Amino acid sequence: MTENLLSGPVADVAGQAGHPPDHPPRMGFFTDTSICIGCKACEVACKEWNLVPDNGLELRGTSYDNSGDLGANTWRHVAFVEQTRPAGQRPVALGMPAMGPPAGQQAADPDRDVSWLMMSDVCKHCTHAACLDVCPTGSLFRTEFGTVVVQEDICNGCGYCVPACPYGVIDLRPGDGRAWKCTLCYDRLRGSQEPACAKACPTDSIQFGPWDELRERAQQRVARLQQQGVPNARLYGADPTDGVGGDGAFFLLLDEPEVYGLPPDPVVTTRDLPAMWQRAGAAALAAAGIIAAAFLAGRR
Ligand code: SF4
Ligand code: SF4
Repeated sequence: MTENLLSGPVADVAGQAGHPPDHPPRMGFFTDTSICIGCKACEVACKEWNLVPDNGLELRGTSYDNSGDLGANTWRHVAFVEQTRPAGQRPVALGMPAMGPPAGQQAADPDRDVSWLMMSDVCKHCTHAACLDVCPTGSLFRTEFGTVVVQEDICNGCGYCVPACPYGVIDLRPGDGRAWKCTLCYDRLRGSQEPACAKACPTDSIQFGPWDELRERAQQRVARLQQQGVPNARLYGADPTDGVGGDGAFFLLLDEPEVYGLPPDPVVTTRDLPAMWQRAGAAALAAAGIIAAAFLAGRR
C-alpha cells in the first residue's frame, strides 16, 4: 500500500501518527440507524458526561427534532427525517414501534403514509482528518485509539478547522471562541469504558468497538436487512478507499446519504495541498529565474 499522509487508505492510523507499534486497536462507532428509536438518550448522555452546555430545545417547523444540528454544544445529534410516500408503499416493517393518528383523528393526507428515518450523527473521526491537518497549535491530535480529539486548553480559536471539515462537524463555541466536538469519550476509553452515548443507547443502535470488528458486523447487518427485503440498506463511511480514507464512525443508512444531510462523496479538504505547494514552488522558481535573467540582461 502506498503511504500518503493526506489521502488514501491507511493500514495503521495511530501508527502513522507516531504512536508506538503496541498501541491499542483502532476503535470506532458503528451507528445502525435501522434500530434507532429517536429517544435521544445518546444526546443527553454525551452532554452529561462531557459537560457540554445546554443550548436549548426548539422545534423548527421542519421536523419533530428539537436539538437542531451537530455543533460545538451538540456532539451527538439525532436527526428525524420525515418522509411521505403513497399509501400502500410502506417500508418493510423492521419490528419498530409505530403509531397512527390519535383516536378519532385522520391523517392530514390519507393517500400518503408518513415514516421517519432517525440517525444519531457524530464526528466521523476520519482516517484523514482535515481539521487535524490544518490546526496550527496542535490542539487537534490523533489518539492511540486512532480517534481525533481537540484539546480545549491549547485551542487558540483561529477557526481554521471549521471550514476544513467536509462534514461540518467541528464548531466554535459562542462566547468561548474555542473549537469543540466529540472526543469519542477519550477519557472513558483510557479507563477501558465505552463512550457515554453507546452505553446509554437502549437499542444498541450505537455500537462501539474495534474498528475491524465493527465493519464486519456492519456488513453482516446490511446483508441481513437486504435479505429481509430492505434493498436501500447501505453502509456510509466504512470504505477505506473513499475520499477521507474511511471514517472511524460509520453508519448503516436506509436511504441516500443526502436524505440525512450527509455529503454523498466526502473528500478530505487537504488532499490537494502537496500538489498546490508543488505548483506554488514551481511558480516561485520560474519568477526567480525571470528576475535573475532581467537583472543579468540589465548589467550587459
Ligand atoms: S468529521 Fe470533521 S471534525 Fe470529525 S475528524 Fe473528520 S474532519 Fe475532523
Ligand atoms: S440512544 Fe440509541 S435509540 Fe436513542 S436516539 Fe440515540 S441512537 Fe437512537
